[in-house]
Amino acid sequence: MEEHDVVIIGAGIAGLATALALKKIGMQSIVLERSHDLRTTGAALTLSSNAWRALDALGVANKLASLYQAFQLGHVTNLINGTTQVMSFTGTIDSGDMGVRPLHRKVLLETLANELPPNTIKFSTNITSIKSQDQDITVLHLQDGSVIKTKALIGCDGVHSVVAQWLGLAAPVNSGRSAVRGLAVFPAGHGFKHEVQQFVGNGIRAGFVPINDTEIYWFITSCFTPREPEMARKPELILKEVTEHLAKDCPKNFHNVVQHSELSTVTWAPLMFRVPWNVLFGPAYGRAITVAGDAFHPMTPDLGQGGGAALEDAVVLGRCLASSPGNMSSGMERYVKERRWRVAGLITGAFLSGWVQQGGSGWSGWMVKLFRDHLFYRFVQPRIVNAVHFVCGVLPEKS
Ligand SMILES: Cc1cc2nc3c(=O)[nH]c(=O)nc-3n(C[C@H](O)[C@H](O)[C@H](O)COP(=O)(O)OP(=O)(O)OC[C@H]3O[C@@H](n4cnc5c(N)ncnc54)[C@H](O)[C@@H]3O)c2cc1C
Repeated sequence: MEEHDVVIIGAGIAGLATALALKKIGMQSIVLERSHDLRTTGAALTLSSNAWRALDALGVANKLASLYQAFQLGHVTNLINGTTQVMSFTGTIDSGDMGVRPLHRKVLLETLANELPPNTIKFSTNITSIKSQDQDITVLHLQDGSVIKTKALIGCDGVHSVVAQWLGLAAPVNSGRSAVRGLAVFPAGHGFKHEVQQFVGNGIRAGFVPINDTEIYWFITSCFTPREPEMARKPELILKEVTEHLAKDCPKNFHNVVQHSELSTVTWAPLMFRVPWNVLFGPAYGRAITVAGDAFHPMTPDLGQGGGAALEDAVVLGRCLASSPGNMSSGMERYVKERRWRVAGLITGAFLSGWVQQGGSGWSGWMVKLFRDHLFYRFVQPRIVNAVHFVCGVLPEKS
């Protein structure tokens, strides 16, 4: 039977960043991941200045920022009346901020993983249940029948977290919306400016985000649910649904991007979130056990903040553990208290932002669209972008 001081479940953004934060404060951990390799579903994402600050605290911001250019502008085209509004990504940035940048998930995960000591990540390790042996030891049962004992456990195991369940956090809820994402590749160059393009219409929001000169990340959110469960697993059927139905009102350049998708990167996912009051008042720690990232605060992707919040979690947790030497549970309690209001605000902002931007039908849909088209992008969106700014602090380096 293996025994470890600290076990992290999940080698996603939260798990790897947390392992790195612990390494920085001189604490050894092991990361258990059920996949055979780093999981890069979603292909790419954008990170805002708060996330870059957290990456800076983890010591990898400059390495990543040198590969990806910040956005200055974005455009939102209304598919119903044809008007386009311009969004600035620079208006609220302080000097030294790294702004909003796209990046490949694979590059982000590999960069974090490469900073960890060899053999920190154990792949193909699926935790199926958790039991407490006594006050100080937690026992993890693996799918292959083996058992691991640990003094401290951090659940970074995503939206369907077994650790969150064990702690007693209420299950996440389905927003009724879903997202299709993909990565388009143009070997000879795509020719688009380095600007975010979005399209809003009746019940859909679509967009594309150039990553570099040859690759573009695209997405479409809607209330679509695959008719057959197997459709969700077949990228060619998902693409067909996008081109023939979901994006039928989108302009040619969006279709052009979608048609250049690498099939293996096309995925469909329901958009889940944890209700903010469960995050504010639910049991997010107990003994020396807590959760981070989507395991703690899954949110809809409408602010592009889930990954950024996971990086913030890692730094704040590292900081709190460093300030409670020898007492993991009190460090975790401080971390949860520090994070609750921040992440509940992000969940709420993301939900409202998605609801407004996607529009809707009927009388209420008409009101929402009126608000979206005349006020939201001009007055509310810049404030939301400003509000997501957050300084997670620095990690005390081990002496
Ligand atoms: C459509 C969409 C677009 C998004 N866009 C953005 C964006 O632009 N910017 C942004 O910041 N965020 C974005 N997000 C959110 C972001 O993807 C997530 O918040 C982020 O990936 C969460 O990371 P995580 O490590 O907490 O969870 P995950 O990435 O889900 O990682 C959890 C890991 O735990 C492993 N695991 C799970 N259960 C077990 C188990 N029992 N045993 C062992 N291992 C286990 C999984 O295999 C996985 O590797 C988006 C999300 C969606 C759905």
